[in-house]
Amino acid sequence: MTMNIDAIRNDFPILKTICAGRPAVYFDNAATAQKPLPVLEAAFEYTVRSNGNPHRGAHIFSLAASEAYDGSKETVRRFIGAKSVREIIYTRNTTESLNLVARSWGETHLGPGDKILITIAEHHSDLVPWQRAAEKTGASLEYIYVDKKTGHFLPEDLEKIDDPAVKIFAFAQVSNVLGIDFDPKPLIARAHAHGAAVVLDGAQSVPHKKVDVTDLDCDFFAFSGHKMGSAGGIGVLYGKERFLEEMEPFLMGGDMIDRVEEQETSFAELPMKFEAGTQYVEGAVSLEAAIRYVEAVGFDVIRAQEARLVKRTLEGLQEIPHIQIIGPADPVEKEGLVSFNVEDVHPHDVAQILSAEGICIRTGHHCAEPLHRYLGINASCRASFWFYNTEEEVDYFLEKLKGVRPMMGYGE
Ligand code: PLP
Repeated sequence: MTMNIDAIRNDFPILKTICAGRPAVYFDNAATAQKPLPVLEAAFEYTVRSNGNPHRGAHIFSLAASEAYDGSKETVRRFIGAKSVREIIYTRNTTESLNLVARSWGETHLGPGDKILITIAEHHSDLVPWQRAAEKTGASLEYIYVDKKTGHFLPEDLEKIDDPAVKIFAFAQVSNVLGIDFDPKPLIARAHAHGAAVVLDGAQSVPHKKVDVTDLDCDFFAFSGHKMGSAGGIGVLYGKERFLEEMEPFLMGGDMIDRVEEQETSFAELPMKFEAGTQYVEGAVSLEAAIRYVEAVGFDVIRAQEARLVKRTLEGLQEIPHIQIIGPADPVEKEGLVSFNVEDVHPHDVAQILSAEGICIRTGHHCAEPLHRYLGINASCRASFWFYNTEEEVDYFLEKLKGVRPMMGYGE
């Protein structure tokens, strides 16, 4: 699979930022991706030509805002294979989407004796809301653990899914630390076999691969625009209509109502029932443009480029002494990111040394503190890619990484 990498990189002016005498190497895409010019232009165009309050006026700008906002939902619906725009709710990000489910579904459907099942690999945004739901409802929070070497779910722990006391099973399609795609479809079917609801965190899958929520058959699906080239502050919650219909609204106020009396209110139809207040239309426009951009590049091209980068990184890391790769070391098992540690050197020192060379990686616990603790480490380094990264950047990163231990006073 080939692509014109120079043309693509020209769409991302930030990649030309000079740092340490060369264009900065941006390997922190799992945290947030850079935004291409067509996305920035779409939001700018909307703002200078059409800005108004959506769904609230008869004038041209309000109508234009409503059209832009509602139109973007159709693009999102098609992009993730949902059946209806009634199933697409805009939120600020994955975190808010998951909180919405934990609050509006969790707190009314769970009680003592029920189990919430998650995995030890979850990002805090798919963990802390469930802790809270458990505390509030008396349900218990159970974990599926991973094999410390391979990163895959322990087969014996997968049996927890079959427990009829499990009322909801929430997990990330792709781990933001291990990089594994957990192949959710069979796990979803397994939970459905006894009627459990399934929430899939798609924050790290949607930017890299085609997702079809209808085919996966998940009941909820969450992702963030900023990890796939849109403005920050716009995210999506997909929910099956029959779930959303009977759920309580998350926030109350304007736009989410049907009729308001002094003492009571009836709520708007889906999806507005879950979208209180003036919405982020620029964000919706930006997300739509990001989807179009990603689709124009093509997931086959994106995946092929990321596979090349991951392979080169893993092969290079394995040639450097004293590097510990976290999770599987087989490139086919990594979705666009590689986490690792350098023996004797704190990840923050690794990041600082690389930063001085113009290389941006992420370090810390990556909002997955329980996973790190379980693996017996405090923190790790993570290089995460998108299709605009190059093999030349990977080689530069590997070369500079080799110098980290000597710089800290250790042998190679
Ligand atoms: N879930 C996963 C797997 C993530 O990697 C992230 C962010 O890194 C999130 C959820 C939270 O995303 P956001 O901060 O956009 O809400």
